[in-house]
Amino acid sequence: SWTEGGADEKEAGVARWVFEHGRPAGFGTDTLPSAKGWHLPLRGSKGPVGVLAVALAEHAAPLLPSQRQLLETFVSQTALALERAKLAEEAASARLAAATERQRSALLSTLSHDLRTPLAAVTGAAATLLQDGGLPEDARRELLEAIREEADRLGRLVADLLELTRLESGTIEARKEWQPLEEVVGSALQRVEPMLGARDVKVDLPDAMLLVPIDAALLEHVFVNVLENAAKYTPPDSPIEVRARADADGAIVEVLDRGPGIPPEEAERIFDKFYRLPGEASPGTGLGLTVSRAIVQAHGGRMWVERRPGGGAAFRFTLPFGGAPPEPDRRESRDLGERP
Ligand code: ADP
Repeated sequence: SWTEGGADEKEAGVARWVFEHGRPAGFGTDTLPSAKGWHLPLRGSKGPVGVLAVALAEHAAPLLPSQRQLLETFVSQTALALERAKLAEEAASARLAAATERQRSALLSTLSHDLRTPLAAVTGAAATLLQDGGLPEDARRELLEAIREEADRLGRLVADLLELTRLESGTIEARKEWQPLEEVVGSALQRVEPMLGARDVKVDLPDAMLLVPIDAALLEHVFVNVLENAAKYTPPDSPIEVRARADADGAIVEVLDRGPGIPPEEAERIFDKFYRLPGEASPGTGLGLTVSRAIVQAHGGRMWVERRPGGGAAFRFTLPFGGAPPEPDRRESRDLGERP
């Protein structure tokens, strides 16, 4: 409390002098003796770490040499302890900075690889098409298809990255409104339809009008992502199921497939940025599940994957209600009823 305010400003000034000069000052010394406190420098091995001010009772007898010595020992021990604590803190923040830096460079190298590979393919295919005017029709087609595929992949990567950056920087907020879950599932299914082919897709929503507080646009992204994965990573004729049920706290949604499933030791990692299962052959960025989980979390929910009994993956997420839905219908009819 000596560091701020009126009369104590003087004591703070003395303390600063002691810190800068490394010599005792204040009451009982030759320097600034009019101060109330006796200020002693706390010397660490690498320089000053602080100042200890001793407030002596008015009219106190001068300290005995043994008391002085005791106090000096206390001061030097305090200085060393403070220094140790400060060094430990610096080491911890250096470790954190190193970890952040490692993650950053891992991210950048994956990113440049993920961007460069499709770009190289597009450039290569375009160059061949330009050079060789006499290519047979199906070879031309193949090259054009490769260009489209790789450009799609780039587009997906950029979209995922943008989404992720916005979610991570907190500029995306789930703008929640009570809406029927069924509508979001329906529009997501429509979007992935081309990928689903002739698959059997079963939707099992107990209550067709199950209302949940969601940002429909964001949540649709989650469904599209998980359904696309179910289509990409499972045999073309295997079935997919979407289920939802509600309890008192919220809705729990499941997307189930009959593919190879996710090994339990990978169950957390597949939600990491850019992480794909080892040897993954289908194209992808490893960002879809990262973005999906971030969206679910922006809704206050959790997202995880489990082994599905009987084989396959079970992706699950929760959507907390966080309160009761508004009841516009009832309010309206009451209002009407109250009218004369
Ligand atoms: P992407 O699909 O772009 O690779 P995701 O984050 O969506 O990125 O998925 C990460 C990885 O998890 C995929 O590369 C794949 O290895 C694995 N994966 C995701 N969904 C499934 C699934 N339904 N069945 C098996 N593996 C899956």
